[in-house]
Amino acid sequence: MPTYKKVLVAIDLTEEAPQVLNKAMEVCKAHQAELVLVHVVEPVGYAYGGDIPMDLTELQDQLDKAAREQLTAYGAQYDVREANQVVSVGRPESEIHRLAKEHGVDLVIVGSHGRKGFQLLLGSTANGVLHGTECDVLAVRIH
Ligand code: AMP
Repeated sequence: MPTYKKVLVAIDLTEEAPQVLNKAMEVCKAHQAELVLVHVVEPVGYAYGGDIPMDLTELQDQLDKAAREQLTAYGAQYDVREANQVVSVGRPESEIHRLAKEHGVDLVIVGSHGRKGFQLLLGSTANGVLHGTECDVLAVRIH
């Protein structure tokens, strides 16, 4: 079995996040690995295709702030050092690829809903992360 030294766990800040985080903690303990905790805030404009004629800066700032607070809380709870609590803005898949490289991790952990049939065509973050990450990827099945 390979020994992992640095693990990136990506969480979406839903109530499912602890399932992914708990698995990441198990892996880190077993391998005595360092943990990097990542959340990617999606730009508000993406969701509305940039069609809304209003300034979304304030809303974006609020979302960033809320994400940062939540990540800090998880960081404290799971004993992740501050420099390894990362909030980034962009598309989750591509930011996770970028951050995995930037932090030189050897394992990326994401949650996976085990989509079937039609849902598979829509793709998932886990899928997107798997295709394009150079190191190992662990998809934690979410129940
Ligand atoms: P999804 O495919 O969007 O249902 O998400 C599955 C998993 O992808 C989550 O459990 C997280 O590990 C990861 N993920 C999804 N969205 C984000 C996000 N915005 N930031 C970081 N990780 C994410």
